[in-house]
Amino acid sequence: HEKRRKLSHVGIFNDTIFDAVHRELTLREGLRNAISKNQLYLVYQPLICSVTGKVWSFEALLRWHFEGEEVSPVDFIPIAERSGRINEIGMWVLSTACNNAANWVDKSVAISVNVSVIQLMEDNFIEQLDKVLATSGLAPERLHLEVTESVFADNKQKLSEQVNAIKSRQVAVSIDDFGTGFSSLSQLQLLHFDHIKIDRSFINNLDSTGEPIIRATLLIAGEFGCKTIAEGVETENQATRLKAMGVDCLQGYYYARPEREESLGRWFDTEK
Ligand code: C2E
Ligand code: MG
Ligand code: MG
Ligand code: MG
Repeated sequence: HEKRRKLSHVGIFNDTIFDAVHRELTLREGLRNAISKNQLYLVYQPLICSVTGKVWSFEALLRWHFEGEEVSPVDFIPIAERSGRINEIGMWVLSTACNNAANWVDKSVAISVNVSVIQLMEDNFIEQLDKVLATSGLAPERLHLEVTESVFADNKQKLSEQVNAIKSRQVAVSIDDFGTGFSSLSQLQLLHFDHIKIDRSFINNLDSTGEPIIRATLLIAGEFGCKTIAEGVETENQATRLKAMGVDCLQGYYYARPEREESLGRWFDTEK
């Protein structure tokens, strides 16, 4: 409190800014040991095929149990990116998700892993990806990497080389939150994505401007030969309309919330 009093004396720091800075420093410090203290874990949410109604993939979503609190990835991923911890954390996610998926009884289900652009741009990313594939024994075709344009990548050439290197290993690349990034359309021109995940905001606005935007996105996806996924599907009505429009896969609370690995069994087709 002495520190706070002194800082507010300077006049720049009001309580709100102080709290925000304090929170960032606490989380930043906490992230240093999150892996070694076993505070990180994954939950999985299914992506459902519109035609068959079966699970096409599970998206791994990171959770952090820290000091009695569940901190949202929306809050801690940007901090991990700013503090240089995203590579380490991202590799923990990738290897944990691939090791788990390699052991699933239903080998027709893929695993979707979110990857930060910062991590993707690391020089050793491809080397680490190869290691994870080799160690886990996961068939590369079962791995999908979801990339969000949350950070502007200034080296487009490098980004495109990394994406091509991933694809040459038969691992698929999805553009996440499509339509909200810095330059979604020019990204499509430069990078060869396999899947487009249409951002939740458009599914939310299906009754107004969402529908024409989704229809336009489906046309673009068709031109580029990309599979389409709608995220944030919450109602039966949305699901029905998105299927009728021709969206390939649907994901959202209407089908399932993200769950711990132990409860995924009911989704698996054990006949395969
Ligand atoms: P995302 O990749 O776009 O993931 C979708 C988010 O929407 C998830 O939030 C999911 O729980 C939530 N969601 C799913 N269905 C619905 C729905 O029907 N309605 C609503 N309102 N929300 C739904 P979550 O798990 O909090 O993750 C937020 C974001 O954090 C992710 O967005 C992703 O950008 C990032 N993230 C999560 N895990 C990782 C990770 O392992 N690595 C990286 N780099 N980023 C991650
Ligand atoms: Mg995602
Ligand atoms: Mg998304
Ligand atoms: Mg999103």
